[in-house]
Amino acid sequence: MADQGPAIGIDLGTTYSCVAVWQRDRIQIIPNDQGLRITPSCVAFNDIERLVGDAAMNVFPMNPANTVFGVKRLIGRRFSDPLVQRDVKHWPFQVICGARDKPMIDVTSKGQKKKCTAEEISSMVLTKMKEIAEDFLGVPVKNAVITVPAYFNDSQRKATRVAGYISGLNVLRVIAEPTAAAVAYGLDNMFSSSEEKNVLIFDLGGGTFDVSILAMDKSTFKVKSIAGDTHLGGEDFDSRMVNHFVKEFERKHRKDLSNNARALGRMRTACEKAKRNLSFMSHTTIAIDCFYDGVDFQCKITRAKFEELNMDLFEQCIGHVDKCLKDAEMDKKSIHDVVLVGGSTRIPKVQQLLQDFFDGKELCKSIHPDEAIAYGAAVQAANLTGQGNPEIQDLVLWDVTPLSLGIREINDSMSVVVPRNTTIPTKKEQGFTTTCDDQTSVTFQVYEGERPKASDNILLDKFVLSEIPAAPRGVAKINVRFDIDANGILTVTATDRTTGNENHIIISNVTGILSKDEIDRMLDEAERFKLEDEELKKNFDAKNSLENYVYRTRAAFFSKNLACELPASEAKKLEDEIKSAIEWLDEHKDIQVDVFENKRKDLESIWNPIVSKF
Ligand code: ADP
Ligand code: MG
Repeated sequence: MADQGPAIGIDLGTTYSCVAVWQRDRIQIIPNDQGLRITPSCVAFNDIERLVGDAAMNVFPMNPANTVFGVKRLIGRRFSDPLVQRDVKHWPFQVICGARDKPMIDVTSKGQKKKCTAEEISSMVLTKMKEIAEDFLGVPVKNAVITVPAYFNDSQRKATRVAGYISGLNVLRVIAEPTAAAVAYGLDNMFSSSEEKNVLIFDLGGGTFDVSILAMDKSTFKVKSIAGDTHLGGEDFDSRMVNHFVKEFERKHRKDLSNNARALGRMRTACEKAKRNLSFMSHTTIAIDCFYDGVDFQCKITRAKFEELNMDLFEQCIGHVDKCLKDAEMDKKSIHDVVLVGGSTRIPKVQQLLQDFFDGKELCKSIHPDEAIAYGAAVQAANLTGQGNPEIQDLVLWDVTPLSLGIREINDSMSVVVPRNTTIPTKKEQGFTTTCDDQTSVTFQVYEGERPKASDNILLDKFVLSEIPAAPRGVAKINVRFDIDANGILTVTATDRTTGNENHIIISNVTGILSKDEIDRMLDEAERFKLEDEELKKNFDAKNSLENYVYRTRAAFFSKNLACELPASEAKKLEDEIKSAIEWLDEHKDIQVDVFENKRKDLESIWNPIVSKF
């Protein structure tokens, strides 16, 4: 498989994404075009182009309504989901309800209204990560392992695969973020020892919080339990601070900010920065010039105040740790190491609460909180494509099902076949029967979730087993088998035990979640954006080349003192031409490549013969 080219690992984060590759017997975290090892999961649209990553983040204060971030909180969810409703209220960009209750992000791109799905925005971020890797490696990259929170359900995992597909990646596998982080920890800490260890991964990022307990030895990583919250992270801590300061401002200046997206956006950026400062300073100041109605904003905040604003959220994190231990039926004393992952684990209070919970145990900070997940994903990518060394080739990852899976009974109760936290791959069977006399077909509805009423859970799919021989109710014996492979792909098979007649469905394929038309449209758009980006780059290059030529000629004009060397009228003419070329450049920013190229050719034909004489 090595001829397929390099396989990368992508940590597609809510706030930041990171890409890594296995190269020369070690993992390399790949820096982006700015030289940074993490890239904001942010996409901005404006009148001329689409920006992704740092460039998008930088324009956020100027263009908040068209700068999209945090879509991982939307992916694979319905618009009516209360958590989606909560998020859309806070965001400066608009999210509306599309067909089949799908959230659609409403932006203005190149002067035109455009509706994007969360999969589409995520695919733009993935394309950026792919390009970062391609620039670094100098070859096309196709294969990737992408990580998702352990808590992501089937629909969220599927949607992430769709995003990968639209970005032109072959998604080798979607793996859980804490498992990937555990691999990074394992490579650093386990090869020297042969004993089995229980490790708790505490991953607090920008938008999601994940806890996992893994039992691991040198090469086997088995997830014991997972817990967490897909809506808890650094952005919530930022929101608390924003609300605090908005109230403060309104109290002081009697001005209502709540509908001013630009002011709120600038406040959020300032609060996020202040929060980072408070991780290593006891107090800091927020200062925003001309904040609102010409009024400057300046205010101090202490670390203690920040902690007070967020204490309940920090405590929620510890509650999830406790739940995770209970699910794994483990005592906290049996945890050998508590590993910190995610940018928000830099908050001292979070570390202190966690350390106190573990009775003062030293926390493990040896792996990089921003890079560990991409690191582990890249190890897995190398492992799956046969590119790693023997040490990583033996690696076996055992994940667990994040939610219970089952069949809906006639009275709407959920008959669980695979309980939550079951190690995968797995096979489980359960017996069913008919509920009416002479019933010759049964519809099986497969649900995912923890609620006792099936209709309160998520319907994954349904299928029918027919040609059951007519008999009184309860006589037929139907076996239903749930098969989950290492990718989390579920196959449900129903077999009539009398006739051997069988039917099955495979849940978790790429086209399940969106129609083929929708996916085709997204692929077309991705291709269109790619062509437009290339066109724009050519345009920039042509403009730069013309600009360089004009300024070089101007420098030559003055340094060679052409004003004295040339006849006065000719010198004046050349000086005026250079001046007007500079004005022309200022006025023509966004025009066709060939216009720049022709302009350059025209100027060269006039100027080169004059300048080259001196
Ligand atoms: P995600 O995986 O959700 O993309 P990350 O793990 O990259 O998130 O973490 C990003 C979050 O970490 C952001 O909310 C950011 O503000 C926060 N963060 C980064 N550095 C610090 C710090 N020094 N102190 C507090 N929070 C931080
Ligand atoms: Mg993360």
